[in-house]
Amino acid sequence: MRPIAKSVFYAEVRCIAKRMKVAPSGIEIADLGSKWGTCSASGSVTFDFGVLALSMERRHEIIVHELTHLRLRRHGHLFRAFVSAQLASLRSAEERRPES
Ligand SMILES: [Zn+2]
Repeated sequence: MRPIAKSVFYAEVRCIAKRMKVAPSGIEIADLGSKWGTCSASGSVTFDFGVLALSMERRHEIIVHELTHLRLRRHGHLFRAFVSAQLASLRSAEERRPES
């Protein structure tokens, strides 16, 4: 799969953050080694370069996961329920997008 441009990725993160009504203090792309993403205590999110080459669906899962940490620090039932709801809402928004 051809990687997307960083600028496209940043726009995607900002768009999803807006939908989720969260405001990360920063969005970065870096070499995170074995992780896809991290969320700092100060509220900034960092993603591994590798996300640029993932499918949109997988990218969205990672973006939503990290942005959810801005509301819920810990993984748990509530965290997973929140991520699933956000992904379902993103997916239906994609489906509503008119064909061109
Ligand atoms: Zn996590």
